[in-house]
Amino acid sequence: MQFNKDAKYVIGVDLGGTNVRAAVVDRTGRILGDGRTSSRAMDGLEYTIEQIIDAVRIGCVEASVRLDDVAGIGMGVPGTHKSEEGIVVWSPNFKDWNNVQLLAPITDALGLPAVMGNDANVAAFGEYAFGAGSGAKIMVMFTIGTGIGSGIVMNGRSFVGVTETAPEMGHHIILAAGPRCGCGRYGCVESLCRRDAIIDRAARKAHAGRHTSLLEKSNHDLRYITPAMISEAASEGDEVSIETFEEVGYYMGIAIANAINILNPDKIVIGGGIAQAGDLLFAPIRRSVEVNALYTALQACQILPAQLGDDAGVLGGAAMALQKLES
Ligand SMILES: [Zn+2]
Repeated sequence: MQFNKDAKYVIGVDLGGTNVRAAVVDRTGRILGDGRTSSRAMDGLEYTIEQIIDAVRIGCVEASVRLDDVAGIGMGVPGTHKSEEGIVVWSPNFKDWNNVQLLAPITDALGLPAVMGNDANVAAFGEYAFGAGSGAKIMVMFTIGTGIGSGIVMNGRSFVGVTETAPEMGHHIILAAGPRCGCGRYGCVESLCRRDAIIDRAARKAHAGRHTSLLEKSNHDLRYITPAMISEAASEGDEVSIETFEEVGYYMGIAIANAINILNPDKIVIGGGIAQAGDLLFAPIRRSVEVNALYTALQACQILPAQLGDDAGVLGGAAMALQKLES
């Protein structure tokens, strides 16, 4: 099915393990309306497909846009794909998604063409098209949250590798014999810098008897520490919290320096909930990058906070659809 070149709008879909969001977007990246549904990840493929279709229809109603005025859909989907064929090869958060056809039933139900990509790559493409990565020749994005997501956009294209597994920079091993990672290996960036690893790091210091305001902030139950508490405590001068960000920034800086040394990008964009700590995290990241990146590559590279927040996924999907439309 062809993208309708005369249509004014595209739809970006962000499929997560919990929610589906579909946004109607114009050609400048403005969001006109949103549809949100639950993704029903554990109920099976057909239910999730229905939820996606509903989200798209609701989004159109909210935006007061008819499906006839939509050129097509771009979707960010967790997992590994054969995106040209509309197939999800594997997606850990969805029950029994092994080599399933995702796009064809959506296209059939809505009468719209659709493209898709890995959710992290699509979010990176959103930052490239409409956010902090705008104008970059080579942009690398890291998302620091529950996990460490990453994406590369090179000369206007997402770089996804031969089996659409790349770049997975969250699973680059940067500390031999480091902590065990969710992927089963040891010392990945994710094992050191993801949300829970940051909380553990702060909690261990408190357990070791260090004085910290995190005790008070968590009502003396260290299980309830949050990154926002660590961030608040650090900004108030709490040594344990400042040190926690220093250590996490050091490891993130190694990961980023490796990306700089391999790819020689002009922009590195850092997003995700943890990045909201701002300079508390960015300052140690920059110091570590300066030590670990090669000088000429470092000189050419800006390290920037992401701009799109939670909109990166839907805007990335929209940008993919627009790229398809213009190709
Ligand atoms: Zn890993």
